[in-house]
Amino acid sequence: MTDPNCLFCKIAGDEIEADVVYQNDDIVAFRDINPQASTHVLVIPRRHIATLNDLQDEDAKTVGSLFLAARDIAAREGIAADGFRTVMNCNAAAGQTVFHIHLHVLGGRNLDWPPG
Ligand code: AMP
Ligand code: ZN
Repeated sequence: MTDPNCLFCKIAGDEIEADVVYQNDDIVAFRDINPQASTHVLVIPRRHIATLNDLQDEDAKTVGSLFLAARDIAAREGIAADGFRTVMNCNAAAGQTVFHIHLHVLGGRNLDWPPG
């Protein structure tokens, strides 16, 4: 399922250009256009899922794929050993601005905790 008005569906469908670093049948990963760390990659399912609240039980494999991609991207970017963060914001109060789920993969600097 895709949403014709969704920015990330358009990236997954090659309608809008992005700096893609990894893809397979289920997911696409690309560099964030406004990076918050030297490595800032977004990993998305090809299927349109608006928020984490909308996940279905049958999405379990896809969600697993997001994290396996994050693992591989972190290794490839050389941030796995020092450490990196994965974040998925859900809805406005958490700062979600694009309503197609995406796993942020951030690394290459020390990341504060708790987040803002
Ligand atoms: P969130 O605020 O968690 O919904 O994250 C949305 C992210 O998408 C932000 O970090 C934006 O910088 C990023 N973003 C928005 N448009 C694009 C784009 N065209 N290509 C890559 N990243 C984008
Ligand atoms: Zn979408």
